[in-house]
Amino acid sequence: MTSYPSLHMIIAGERVFDGGRRTHAVVNPATGETIGELPLAEPADLDRALEAAQRGFRLWRKSTPQQRAAVLNGAARLLLERQEDLARIATLEQGKPLAEARIEVLMNVGLFQFYAGEVFRLYGRALVRPEGLRSTVTHEPVGPVAAFAPWNFPLGNPGRKLGAPIAAGCSVILKAAEETPASALGVLQCLLDAGLPPEVAQAVFGVPDEVSRHLLGSPIIRKLSFTGSTVVGKHLAKLAAEDMKRTTMELGGHGPVLVFGDADMDRVLDTVVTQKYRNAGQVCVSPTRFIVEENVYDRFRNAFAERAKVITVGNGLDEATRMGPMANPRRPEAMDRLIGDAVSRGARLHTGGERPKGTGIGNAGFFYAPSVLSDIPLDAAIMNEEPFGPVALINAYSGEEAMIAEANRLPYGLAAFAWTQDGKRQQRLAREIEAGMLGINTNMIAGADSPFGGVRWSGHGAEDGPEGVLACMVTKAVHEG
Ligand code: NAD
Repeated sequence: MTSYPSLHMIIAGERVFDGGRRTHAVVNPATGETIGELPLAEPADLDRALEAAQRGFRLWRKSTPQQRAAVLNGAARLLLERQEDLARIATLEQGKPLAEARIEVLMNVGLFQFYAGEVFRLYGRALVRPEGLRSTVTHEPVGPVAAFAPWNFPLGNPGRKLGAPIAAGCSVILKAAEETPASALGVLQCLLDAGLPPEVAQAVFGVPDEVSRHLLGSPIIRKLSFTGSTVVGKHLAKLAAEDMKRTTMELGGHGPVLVFGDADMDRVLDTVVTQKYRNAGQVCVSPTRFIVEENVYDRFRNAFAERAKVITVGNGLDEATRMGPMANPRRPEAMDRLIGDAVSRGARLHTGGERPKGTGIGNAGFFYAPSVLSDIPLDAAIMNEEPFGPVALINAYSGEEAMIAEANRLPYGLAAFAWTQDGKRQQRLAREIEAGMLGINTNMIAGADSPFGGVRWSGHGAEDGPEGVLACMVTKAVHEG
């Protein structure tokens, strides 16, 4: 049984423990118990991290593809070796079922392996010029990156935030979520143990606004990579703009799912119900608004609710658990507020809408029952604000045009899904739906080789794929006469 590790920062290659600093209590969301005390950075800590990042960048920008690949492949091997320990730590501090935490480790393994190959494909180009002239275009690492990762994928988010800058030849200061520090430290440790020079990647924690203002206020940082809410993203983008830093912003979503009458309904339900309650709905690409053609509406909604009612909710360490607690006490409170508002405006609640009753798990921890709402007025807050929780919103629509209009109604554009067997309609949807990622008859919208990111209020830039590495690079055109 993995115990929860002692917590620290990693600055300039050194483990930095409490030492009189402020601390943050890390809580197991399944029990409400404090499991660790995390030291928070003081300004002097951040200055040391910045200086180290500067040195780390000077070193790593000159690294060969072979050196970068060796680190990334080595870290992938260590992640696999440590998979079970890392998964248990992630479940202890974030709550998700162990099976989901194990998959997060594999996501990082796949991404690091992909990047280990991608470092050999960072080509430039030579332009056609008259004799005596030479013009080349190259990609260079942008510089030290400040990367802020949230708590919903405690292993996967830090993997993305670290992998791309390291592949590109940058240094990186990671501030992962204070709620889930040990997972982030575990991923970074794999990279360091695989031979990454210590100053290339560091981990700090702190009061988020203090850390982001300090790091983004420094000219040493050349790029911000942020995953989190749109509100915080807009705030950080403004801070980054003061110094015209590059940004990759992976922000909120409100995933529309268009279900047409001609879809294979059992397959749709088998897929989307599991997908909806994965990680207790705390996923930026979660399916949220189910936009259902009216001729299959009753059947879809009733079958959805029946399946939601029998999901086993419990401690993520229990192998029988299909949905764990929410990650922090703010989330069940947000569920109560959003669902209460929708019901008060006339929405129908089919199941959930409360902490689970009679299971013995409702009292401690941050559990919330899998919930289904239907007939929700469009002015309900939940139809406009990312719920980030285990609630499905199901409404009926008449015809393709109205369904596409609803899918595009909000300023978000992260993930969207559609279920239909009609090939021509699939093409129209692919063209018309505003989203960074669209799944047609599938929920598989991400992969190590595929760009992950959104449009409009869901942010800009992408992680994963060749795009993820290029986002950490700048182009330089050199003309020689
Ligand atoms: P939040 O918006 O305050 O925090 C979200 C993340 O951003 C956290 O990891 C937090 O540490 C970080 N953060 C907050 N302020 C910051 C700052 N000034 N500088 C740097 N980092 C900062 O609130 P929350 O309660 O943790 O989450 C609420 C909402 O955030 C959710 O409802 C959801 O919409 C969104 N969220 C999105 C993702 C995602 O994957 N896109 C992940 C987690 C949370």
